[in-house]
Amino acid sequence: MVENVDMEKLPRFLPSCHKEAEKLDIIFTCSGAASVGKIGHEVGVLLTNAGQDARLCCTTAVAAGSKMHLEIGQRARKVIVIDGCPMKCATKVIEKAGIKVDHSFTVTDFGIAKQPTLDISDEDILKVALQIAERTGMKLNIEQ
Ligand code: SF4
Repeated sequence: MVENVDMEKLPRFLPSCHKEAEKLDIIFTCSGAASVGKIGHEVGVLLTNAGQDARLCCTTAVAAGSKMHLEIGQRARKVIVIDGCPMKCATKVIEKAGIKVDHSFTVTDFGIAKQPTLDISDEDILKVALQIAERTGMKLNIEQ
């Protein structure tokens, strides 16, 4: 028997994106190695944790040709892609895989410059996340 387990410290498991794709807004991010790529990834995390039925999924798995991840994108209720900069790498990956993109966002379009750093601010993450939630009609459960 497990004793003295702090339930608050256990990981919160996410819905299975393959089993439940039809009920989920699936989010793909470029997760690029620059400020805006990292912001885009953290926005995907925030929307996964606070958004209603939203779930970050593996963009690299789609690029690698994973059948399971292709199916997730094809069956998703909605596909939201978040790129860091105008190169739009994630959107290109998803579209080349034949997945319909419902919303494609670019972090630099929100007035945030691309910088060669991975030090980013919570304010920028929240700003982008709130605007993406508003434009996609996603309900968020966060206190402001
Ligand atoms: S979209 Fe921009 S930030 Fe993202 S992976 Fe491509 S070059 Fe990097």
